[in-house]
Amino acid sequence: MKNKTVLIVEDEKDLVELLEFNLHREGYRTLAAYDGETGQQLARQHVPDLIILDLMLPRKNGQEVAMALRAEPTTKRIPMIMLTAKSEESDIVVGLTLGADDYVTKPFSMKVLIARMETVMRRASQEVRPSDVMTLGPLKVDRSRHRAEIDDQPVALTLTEFRILEALLAARGHVLSRDQLMSHAWGEHVSVTDRTIDVHVTALRKKLGGHRHIVETVRGVGYRIAGYNHE
Ligand code: CA
Repeated sequence: MKNKTVLIVEDEKDLVELLEFNLHREGYRTLAAYDGETGQQLARQHVPDLIILDLMLPRKNGQEVAMALRAEPTTKRIPMIMLTAKSEESDIVVGLTLGADDYVTKPFSMKVLIARMETVMRRASQEVRPSDVMTLGPLKVDRSRHRAEIDDQPVALTLTEFRILEALLAARGHVLSRDQLMSHAWGEHVSVTDRTIDVHVTALRKKLGGHRHIVETVRGVGYRIAGYNHE
C-alpha cells in the first residue's frame, strides 16, 4: 500500500516511534499526534487514508476524537483502527460503536496491525466504488446497503454469505479460489478452512432457492457466478 498516509494518535512516544518505523518500512507515510485534540486537527487538515487511534489520550480521549471525526463530512469516511489497552469487551464494544472499523489490543504484533490496516483500507476503497448495485438476471445486490434481492424480494443473507456473493458477482463470471473468497469475506488476518467456506456457500445457495445454480462450483479451483458471457 504505497503512497498512503497514516495518522497515528498515541501518547506513548516509544510506541509512536515503533509504529512509524514499521509503517515507513512498509511504504506508508505517517503523521503523529500525542494527544486527542492535535490528532483531530491533523485529521481535518490532512484527511489521511487511515487513523490509528489510541483510546486513552490526554486532552481529548479516543472516544471523543472518533465521535467528532465521524460527525464531520470530510473525515467521517476515514478508516479508523482503535488501540485499546486491555482486551475488556466493554472497551472494544465502545470503540466499535463509536465508529472504529477495527481494534487492536495492546500489546499487539505489527504484522497483525498492518494486516488489519490493509483490510479496513481495502474495505473503505470498495465502499466508494461507483457500481454499488450489481445485477444479474433476477439477482440484485446493493453493496452500500448490504442488501440482496431476487425478483425484487429481499433475501436474508448473513454478512459472510453476502460478502461471498458480492465477491463472486464482482468477479463477473471469473473463478475465485477459496483463498480469494476467504480474504474478501473474512479479511486477510483471518484463516478459515476450505470446509468452512463450502458450508457458507451451501447456505448461500439454499437461500437463493430456485436460482441456486447461479453459484457454480469449479472443481479443484473454487467458485464462480454462472450467467456471464465472455467472448
Ligand atoms: Ca494512551
